[in-house]
Amino acid sequence: MRDRPRSRAAFQAAQELFPGGVNSPVRAFGAVGGEPPVIDRGSGAYIYDVDGNAYADYVCAYGPLILGHAHPAIVGAIRDAAAAGTAFGAPTELETALARRVVAAVPSIEQVRFVNSGTEATMTAIRLARGYTGRNKLIKFAGCYHGHAGGLLARSGSGLATLGLPDSAGVPASYTAETLVAPYNDLAAVERIVSTYADDLAGVIVEPVAANMGLVPPRPGFLEGLRELTLGAGALLIFDEVITGFRLARGGAQAQFGVTPDLTCLGKIIGGGLPIGAVGGPAAIMKHLAPLGAVYQAGTLAGNTLAMAAGVATLDELSDPAIYERLDRRAARLAAAISAAARRAALPVAVSRAGSLLTIFFQAEPPTDLATAQASDTAAYARFCHAALAAGVNVAPSQFEAMFVSLAHTNEVIAFTEAAIAKALDEVARNR
Ligand SMILES: *Cc1c(COP(=O)(O)O)cnc(C)c1O
Repeated sequence: MRDRPRSRAAFQAAQELFPGGVNSPVRAFGAVGGEPPVIDRGSGAYIYDVDGNAYADYVCAYGPLILGHAHPAIVGAIRDAAAAGTAFGAPTELETALARRVVAAVPSIEQVRFVNSGTEATMTAIRLARGYTGRNKLIKFAGCYHGHAGGLLARSGSGLATLGLPDSAGVPASYTAETLVAPYNDLAAVERIVSTYADDLAGVIVEPVAANMGLVPPRPGFLEGLRELTLGAGALLIFDEVITGFRLARGGAQAQFGVTPDLTCLGKIIGGGLPIGAVGGPAAIMKHLAPLGAVYQAGTLAGNTLAMAAGVATLDELSDPAIYERLDRRAARLAAAISAAARRAALPVAVSRAGSLLTIFFQAEPPTDLATAQASDTAAYARFCHAALAAGVNVAPSQFEAMFVSLAHTNEVIAFTEAAIAKALDEVARNR
C-alpha cells in the first residue's frame, strides 16, 4: 500500500473548508471508503499526488482530457489566450472558430450556444425544447445523468415508467413533476409514456451511450426507436453528448449510430479541460433562443477566451480520423486484458465498452439499464479501486462511472495498466 501522509493532511484541511472536503461529491471517496489522494499535477497519461506517487489516470477529469494532462498544444493555447485577455462580454473571433469546428463535425448542429457547463447545456436544451414546442413534459432515462439542474434530478425506482420524484433534498416535487422517467434501453416503456402524454410531450433527453451508471451502450434499435417515437409525437429528441461528443467519433454518437437528434448538448472535450458546455441544433430551432427568440438564456463568462482557445486546440488535435481507431484499439486491448485477468482470477466480471469508454462491472453479465447496473458487487469494486490505486492506476471511486482512455495512453501505459489491474483483481479474488 502506498503511504499518503501529505494527502491525508491536505484532505483533512479540505474537510474544514468544503463540505466533504470536495467541490464535487464523487471525489470524496464516499462510495469506496477511505480517502482520496490529493493531486499535485498531471502530465500525459499520469497524475501525481502531493506525496509524489504516480498513477496512470483513467479518470481524466471525467472525460474532458482526451489528449491527456497538460498537453503542450493546450497549454500553449491557454497561455496565449490569457495574455490577450480572458473575457470581454462581447463577440470574439475565437468563439466563432470553435463554433465552426463544432458545426462542421456534429451532424445535427447548424448553430450553437456556448455555456459554462454541461449542466447549463441541458438546462438550456430543455427550456428550448419546451419553448419551441409549447409543451411541458420531458422523458429522461433512469441512470442517465444530465447535470444537477432540479428538474433533471429524477429517476425511476422501478422498471415501470413513473412520474419522476426528486433524487435530491431541496428539489420541490413540482420541479420534477414534468419529468417522466423510463428505464434505459426500454422502448416499450417510452412508447407507453408517449401514448399517455403525447400532446404535452416537449422532448426526450438521452445519453446516446450511457456513461453515468457505468458504461451502458444502447441496444440496437433503441436510438432509432426514440427518433421515430419523438417524430411521431411532435416532440424533440435531445442527445446529451457531453461525454460522447468528440469522444466516440468526431461527430459523436449521432455520427457513429447514424441517428440525428433535434438538439445536442456538448461539454467536457470541447473545452479542452476548461469549464464549458454547448447546446446546438438546426437554426430553425436555435433561433427561438434569446435574443432572437423568447427562450431566455445568458452567461457572463460564456465564450470566454480560455475555454474557446483550449477547445479549438483540442478539436484540432483530434482532426485526424485515425485517432479514433487508435483510441478504440487501445481500449479494446485493455478491455480484453481485464476480462482475461478476471477469468484467471475466477472473478465474475463484465467489461462494458464503447470506443475509449469502459467500465469494469463486478457481475457476470454486462448491464443494460440502471437496475442491472446496480446489481454489480459494489463492495468488490471498492476493493478493486483501492487495490488499483496501490498498484499505480487511478480509476473512478465509484462503480457507476466510466474509465476514460486518452491519446496519451500509449501501448506502454496500457501494458503497465494491464499488469496493475491483473494484480488488483487477484487481490479482490483473494479477499472475497
Ligand atoms: C458531465 C455530464 C453533464 C454535466 O456536465 P457539467 O459540466 O459537470 O455540468 C451532463 N451530461 C452528461 C452526460 C455528463 O456526463
